[in-house]
Amino acid sequence: MVVLYACGTSQPARRNVLSRTSPPANQKPANPDNNRNPNQTTFTKPEQITTRKPPEERPVVNTKVERREEPETDNTTAANTSAGYRSPAFYRNITDSIQRVAAKPSYYKITENLFKEMAVVPNPKNPAVNSQWYTTVNFDARKPNFVILHHTAQTSAEQTLFTFSVSRTSVSAHFVVGRDGVTYQMLNEYMRAWHAGRSKWGSITDMNSCSIGIEIDNNGTEPFSDAQISSLIKLLGYLKDKFGIPQANFIGHSDIAPVRKNDPSKYFPWKRLADAGFGYWYDSTNLAEPPADFNALLALRVIGYDITTPASAIQSFKLHFIQNDSSPMLTDYDKKVLYNVYRKY
Ligand SMILES: [Zn+2]
Repeated sequence: MVVLYACGTSQPARRNVLSRTSPPANQKPANPDNNRNPNQTTFTKPEQITTRKPPEERPVVNTKVERREEPETDNTTAANTSAGYRSPAFYRNITDSIQRVAAKPSYYKITENLFKEMAVVPNPKNPAVNSQWYTTVNFDARKPNFVILHHTAQTSAEQTLFTFSVSRTSVSAHFVVGRDGVTYQMLNEYMRAWHAGRSKWGSITDMNSCSIGIEIDNNGTEPFSDAQISSLIKLLGYLKDKFGIPQANFIGHSDIAPVRKNDPSKYFPWKRLADAGFGYWYDSTNLAEPPADFNALLALRVIGYDITTPASAIQSFKLHFIQNDSSPMLTDYDKKVLYNVYRKY
């Protein structure tokens, strides 16, 4: 049985994530119609603007596919396209159909509700506000300040597009970068994707709220293609400029979830990214000896790692910076690298 699973899971999935019937309660968008005060203002839904050529018409498939854990080999979608079962073409076809039937209408409905909720002041549920309403005119939207990189642990970009197009998976990302360098945007950067999960960096415990998630199509056991990394660097440059994201804040899922995640894998070219200005890499020449009282765990903490489980924090650091050794021990060389990286923060 093929199982759709979250990226870079360290431990085998216990169950098919598609079996979930709804997002966790704390991740559901609140219903803005509740407790609305008629004196409060709301935004109306803006015109949808698209410069993209609409997808070519494809046959509408039975939407029951969204409720299945295992689409069957003999369903009409596969038959209509002559696509091999679970081939990229198979996933592309059902994803396109789901997008037209359910995903895009849902996207617009969710954004509309969020716009309404964000426009409501004062918040009727806030017991501390007891005066009449005065509004400011000096504001804009909160911006992402981190980029979290993932590998999909799936076999094609199309499979990932499908995974993020159905609600039962409760996972998403802003961008998916294919092996061939084709880059898909699935969510506006100002919206909160569900890619980081339970994670921590420094003192930040809600990484989804402050980051952009990028899924890189890779099964976790193979090198990343040059076309893919070139496209990724182009995307990172755009995001860095648009949101003023500091170089240090381009990090991996395994960095922020040391116990749970191991993506992107040891094959990920972090040095190439650092050379382009995204994330840090150590100075490969003239690595200085750390001082005698150097505390490696505190250095990891300064960089941002959650050191609650020290061995996992060390393994995440080594997956990122040493890459060819996954042991939870720091060699003398590893400590030199850590000392060098730590001083950049
Ligand atoms: Zn991930």
